[in-house]
Amino acid sequence: LSAFRQPIMAGNWKMNPETEEEALSLASEVAERLGAETCATGGDSVDESTCTEVVVFPPFPFISKVKDAVAGAGLVVGAQNFFYEDKGAFTGSVSASMVKSTGCEYVLCGHSERRTLFADSDSNINLKVKKTLDSGMKPILCIGETQEEFEIGIKKEVCATQLSKDLYGITKEQMKDVVIAYEPVWAIGTGLVCGAEDANEIHAYCREVLTNLFDEEVAQATRIQYGGSVKPDNVDDIMAMPDIDGCLVGGASLEGEGFARIVNFKR
Ligand code: PGA
Repeated sequence: LSAFRQPIMAGNWKMNPETEEEALSLASEVAERLGAETCATGGDSVDESTCTEVVVFPPFPFISKVKDAVAGAGLVVGAQNFFYEDKGAFTGSVSASMVKSTGCEYVLCGHSERRTLFADSDSNINLKVKKTLDSGMKPILCIGETQEEFEIGIKKEVCATQLSKDLYGITKEQMKDVVIAYEPVWAIGTGLVCGAEDANEIHAYCREVLTNLFDEEVAQATRIQYGGSVKPDNVDDIMAMPDIDGCLVGGASLEGEGFARIVNFKR
């Protein structure tokens, strides 16, 4: 069994840039440079089923304006987080329906910075994955081992545990809208990139885990991104791997031309 998986490249802006003006100029720099193989609209030549989906994750205050600025360019926006309660007295929080109403199609769930800096537990992440799907958006579920877990040789076990806890109760049908991002924590923002072949091995292993949790069809159809120090000069090698379907890019997504080079990777 093997299925074609539509490539998906995403830029996680994290808590950057500092002003709305900078955010809009970054978004338009990217939008202007989307190549023929991305899902940019406006051409009949774009094949909706094989084009590269490109998503950016701006900070909350910039989402609406970025969405407006790139409307028509085929660039999709997503939210870096939300709080899983529907509404109420939760000062400082935003809900799934709020981010959905600003035009978000994707939500990052379980990013390692949320897990470590904001104590997001697997059970909270599982609630967010469910809430994202119930709200009609698509989760990008981030998993991956820390430096210490890598050193003691338990990266596979860590990924398997995160997948089974974070996807608990998700149906096979819902899995069509779930994207996984394998991000070894030691490679995030460090410049240390996991070798393309080593990353591919974990992606293939994640498909075995998905086969056990769901079935072979789900495992073959689920898109799995790699994240961790992806740059214009390593993206082609990463994307050449059979089990890697896209990249989740942090630092390098803050530079319009470089990120455009990443999303227009050599096929
Ligand atoms: P990085 O971040 O590309 O800066 O390593 C990746 C991420 O945190 O998603």
